[in-house]
Amino acid sequence: EEPPAVLAVPQAGDPSLLLLGRVGAVDPASLDDYRAHGGYGALRRAFELGPAGVIREVTDSGLVGRGGAAFPTGRKWQATASQPDHPHYLVCNADESEPGTFKDRVIMEGDPYALVEAMTIAAYAVGAHRGYLYLRGEYPRAIHRMEHAIGQARARGLLGEDVLGQGFAFDIEIRRGAGAYICGEETALFNSIEGYRGEPRSKPPFPVEKGLFGRPTAENNVETLVNVVPVLTMGAEAYAAIGTPKSTGPKLYCVSGSVDRPGVYELPFGATLGELLTLAGVRDGLRAVLLGGAAGGFVRADELDVPLTFEGTREAGTTLGSGVVMAFDGTVPLPRLLLRIAEFFRDESCGQCVPCRVGTVRQQEALHRIADRTGAAAAADIALLREVGRAMRDASICGLGQTAWNAVESAIDRLGAYE
Ligand code: NAD
Ligand code: SF4
Repeated sequence: EEPPAVLAVPQAGDPSLLLLGRVGAVDPASLDDYRAHGGYGALRRAFELGPAGVIREVTDSGLVGRGGAAFPTGRKWQATASQPDHPHYLVCNADESEPGTFKDRVIMEGDPYALVEAMTIAAYAVGAHRGYLYLRGEYPRAIHRMEHAIGQARARGLLGEDVLGQGFAFDIEIRRGAGAYICGEETALFNSIEGYRGEPRSKPPFPVEKGLFGRPTAENNVETLVNVVPVLTMGAEAYAAIGTPKSTGPKLYCVSGSVDRPGVYELPFGATLGELLTLAGVRDGLRAVLLGGAAGGFVRADELDVPLTFEGTREAGTTLGSGVVMAFDGTVPLPRLLLRIAEFFRDESCGQCVPCRVGTVRQQEALHRIADRTGAAAAADIALLREVGRAMRDASICGLGQTAWNAVESAIDRLGAYE
């Protein structure tokens, strides 16, 4: 029995869309239907190109990671493929946990074979024969559909010892997360798969050199991987022509908050925030938009012309991150919102390093004091927040601690949250 669907995909099934075009249009339980919608054309092309040719196409497409950090995918695959140490692994990070992020879930629930095909292509490119799909445990419907798709692909010779009769062996194992945000950090995720505590490792060495089980590993987000399907079917040049020169291709956005039609949207890079919000039916009285999730930053209602690209959002002092677009009107009390964000980081810190373990607690305490005074901040609290924030950013081991102060800082500096 499948858990019910809860997510809205307002553009579902629009055939002009490269990522959401099949969502809602294809039967997610039917491999034949996926093939009838063009499925497995990209893998065939991959076998024609050979591993080096696939990496060249992905590099030329300009595809960068969609988990949030925008690292060039072709460079990551090339670095993994060229490692002399074996075996190589492929890991798909489907532990989608950034608050306000739900795009990978829509792909896995609506077009699961696309991810199976994309993982197979990635594994072929980097020389991996085993892939892990680390899937958020709170996504039972996605787990159900991915399990089914992997089983069907295996039964039909699209996974296993001899994929498509091409002499390439590859299979996928699903591992479920157990509710810890930090296990979405790639090296904590490796530890979790290996059976250890989900604590990040220091980088370098990067996973391309020493990743899962200490072996060369290509780790990619779900959305990153499914982009490889259109890269190969339409060709790198046509794909790179979409978006802007530095942010190529389509992007998924998770729109929530003060809009009439929340849900997942697909737009080419370069559309403005205002265009996206219009599509989602932004409500009157918009005050600010949080971009990039809890680790991101706010833009004000008078800054909606910011282009949704990695470079454009960086210039605007925030980040595109994992595509979070949370709209807030004046009815949301900022001090409570910021306290909620701080509580999240305090709860989710793995505790391994002092700046983050202690800093997230001090930050939450200060924001609690301020919220208790109905938002009036003592200068000493703001000074403490800045000092703690700086220490977390400079000295934490991983992205959680390094970014735990981002949203609070941007609310203070850009929105005048406590004035
Ligand atoms: P990062 O910049 O450290 O690394 C990004 C990727 O590039 C990693 O895979 C890393 O191994 C690789 N890399 C970086 N430098 C490399 C090099 N020199 N050689 C080879 N590989 C290299 O960022 P991160 O900590 O992996 O991710 C941070 C991002 O994660 C943030 O932008 C945040 O928005 C996002 N995030 C997403 C979610 C979600 O649910 N999708 C949750 C939390 C955080
Ligand atoms: Fe753990 Fe926080 Fe340190 Fe990351 S920064 S390793 S989450 S304590």
